[in-house]
Amino acid sequence: MWELTFPRTVVIGEDALGYLKTVEGKRALIVTDKVIHKLDFMEKVAEYLKDAGLEVQVFDDIEPEPSMETIIRGAEFAKKYNPDWFIAVGGGSCMDAAKAMWVLYENPSIAVDGINPLSKLGLRKKARLICIPTTSGTGSDATWATIITNVKDERKMELTSREIVADISILDPELPKGMPPKLVAGTGLDALAHGIESYVSQWRNDFSDVLAIGAIQMIFKYLPRAYRNPEDKEAKEKMHNAATMAGISFGNSQVGIAHAMGHSLGAIFHVPHGRSIGLFLPYSIEYSARQAMERYATIAREIGIEAKTDEEAVGKLVEAVRKLERDVGEPASLKEAGISRRDFDKRLNDLATRAANSTCTFMNPRVPDTAETKKLFTYAYEGKKADF
Ligand SMILES: [Zn+2]
Repeated sequence: MWELTFPRTVVIGEDALGYLKTVEGKRALIVTDKVIHKLDFMEKVAEYLKDAGLEVQVFDDIEPEPSMETIIRGAEFAKKYNPDWFIAVGGGSCMDAAKAMWVLYENPSIAVDGINPLSKLGLRKKARLICIPTTSGTGSDATWATIITNVKDERKMELTSREIVADISILDPELPKGMPPKLVAGTGLDALAHGIESYVSQWRNDFSDVLAIGAIQMIFKYLPRAYRNPEDKEAKEKMHNAATMAGISFGNSQVGIAHAMGHSLGAIFHVPHGRSIGLFLPYSIEYSARQAMERYATIAREIGIEAKTDEEAVGKLVEAVRKLERDVGEPASLKEAGISRRDFDKRLNDLATRAANSTCTFMNPRVPDTAETKKLFTYAYEGKKADF
């Protein structure tokens, strides 16, 4: 038996934000960050909710890679206000934070790290969740995951529960238009990694497969365009939809070692999620291909790569990923990402231990131990082909 979960409603296309006018309830709590709070469309979000007859308050204290402390503070804020809707507006950090705040608000007996697939959270007795992504990458509006940082232990907690999947995901193509190119690149590569890692995951299934392939095709086609030209409406909209498609896919399958390593790097060196995941993606394919050659070769053929053998196809797929990364100006190695050799060597053990123990690692087609993970980090530092 395998239970799949999806947001109940996904709203797409022009003026998707207008859907907020139809929301029924009393009090909405918008969860966002200070930068997004100042953007023009935020007025619209509040206005539409008010049109629907809701009272509106904003909690805008979410920082990038949100910490446990912020979640606890946000939940306290919610308890005083008593909302029946959480409206997460932003990138992965805001949506992940809203999910965790919502859990603590509804069920104060649960701690942040108590969110897991086996515990009964008892959500939706007081409130429901709407996610409105403003970046095109994380897919958090569609997944059962929330990534919260334990600052003290420099650790990212990968928490999951079917109950925290959003009720409504609103994909308004206007919102990602204002993303700076660097963010378009990082978040886009993150979405690509979601698609590729989901397609080869040990938990893959017929449903996750189709959405993964669809998203991968769209990202290869539209990411360079969305990066080069902020006015390219079609490319921006396609990227926005592809990110959520990849999110639904990996939300019902899993991601792999590019994410395990990326989370570890992010927690220790504070490299943004998208950039670190994109960086590890080619190395993870090189390393994992031995156990999933045919799957990777299928991805290659689905994006139009021609090859006589599966091995050749996978080699070309790695090249295509690297080319895409270059085209959108992202670093190909940890060295290029600006991490000094001294700092890297000093933290290599921590990086490898955290990644090797990540749940994402165990769902990868080939599961590295700590020694191999260390080697992978070293190869990714130097930009060497992971040929072991
Ligand atoms: Zn990701």
